Amino acid sequence: MQINDLSARIKANEQAITGAIQRVLTSGWLVLGPEVKQFESAFAQYLGVEYCVSVGNGTDAIELALRAFGVGPGDKVATVANAGMYTATAVRAIGAEPFFLDVDLNTRNVSLIEVERAIAAGVRFVVVTHLYGLATPEISQIAQLCAGSGAKLLEDCAQAHGAQVGGRMVGTFGDAASFSFYPTKNLGALGDGGAATTRHADVAERIRRLRQYGWTDKYNVEFDGARNTRLDEMQAAILSTFLPGLDAGNERRREIAARYNAGICHPQVEPPAAAGPEYVGHLYVLRSAQRDSLRQHLRAQGIASDIHYPVPDYRQPVFGDRYADVRLSNTERLAVEILTLPCYPEMTDAQIEQVVASVNSWQP
Ligand SMILES: *Cc1c(COP(=O)(O)O)cnc(C)c1O
Repeated sequence: MQINDLSARIKANEQAITGAIQRVLTSGWLVLGPEVKQFESAFAQYLGVEYCVSVGNGTDAIELALRAFGVGPGDKVATVANAGMYTATAVRAIGAEPFFLDVDLNTRNVSLIEVERAIAAGVRFVVVTHLYGLATPEISQIAQLCAGSGAKLLEDCAQAHGAQVGGRMVGTFGDAASFSFYPTKNLGALGDGGAATTRHADVAERIRRLRQYGWTDKYNVEFDGARNTRLDEMQAAILSTFLPGLDAGNERRREIAARYNAGICHPQVEPPAAAGPEYVGHLYVLRSAQRDSLRQHLRAQGIASDIHYPVPDYRQPVFGDRYADVRLSNTERLAVEILTLPCYPEMTDAQIEQVVASVNSWQP
């Protein structure tokens, strides 16, 4: 059993996908055309936010949103270190400097107190990652804190399309949000894609210019720090066919996670906290002090698992010993204890049962 099965999703939507591609071929528009406009407006409406600017991928969405905030070389940007290095990559592309925050052991997301530590240290830019599809519980308080202290807040929602806190979608709390439409995300294209969303007209306009050479209008470059990073018409058309199914897919993911939580019963395994609409089941991540042994047991039973993510950003080889004195105890503990089980909407009930039985039969 794979950790994900995109061929099942493609097969189930084959006609709609073919129709979307045909529509683009007939139109003759291939980049930044009507399908992109249509998808941007549908996704903004889904979230309940004014502006959506699509880009080539989720990492570019982070980078361009930060640039639109005014982040420049040498600026410090607060981020967690347990989210796969995506934000650190975007921050470094700008020449800015990550300021690493620890996460809560249970939610695996950043806590208010850690953001307070960054603000107190003079950091003016904050990225909150809603990891594994779980909305950061304190996002509303964090947004208030940032607004009150003049810090700009970006929510990285690449794993949390459709997650809600108090009836409000993640991505609507901060000054901007980034999304990835990488194929395995809850809303995934059949190739790369991403978007930044915001309620601020000026931020949206800056991102729109930054995604295409810094053009104010065609061939007129007024804006520095720009890139070329665009969503193409085929991916936009495909995303438009998948968007109406996002909530149902999220619901099925939640159901799989709930069945894991109800079925898995093992003294060496700590399942994640159960959750309602704040969790969209992007990844089901349990904890075990003997994670590697469990992983091997599952592999022997033909079940794939994965580790998201094994190396804290500040321990990545690219940094050398630059962050040798950074110690984030929860981040480091999670890195050696976490294990991701298969969790995707096309999983069958029999497969879910098989995973549960395999975990429960593990003898460490
Ligand atoms: C996938 C992901 C990204 C990056 O998205 P890409 O489209 O692959 O560039 C950023 N942040 C998080 C949390 C992600 O999971």
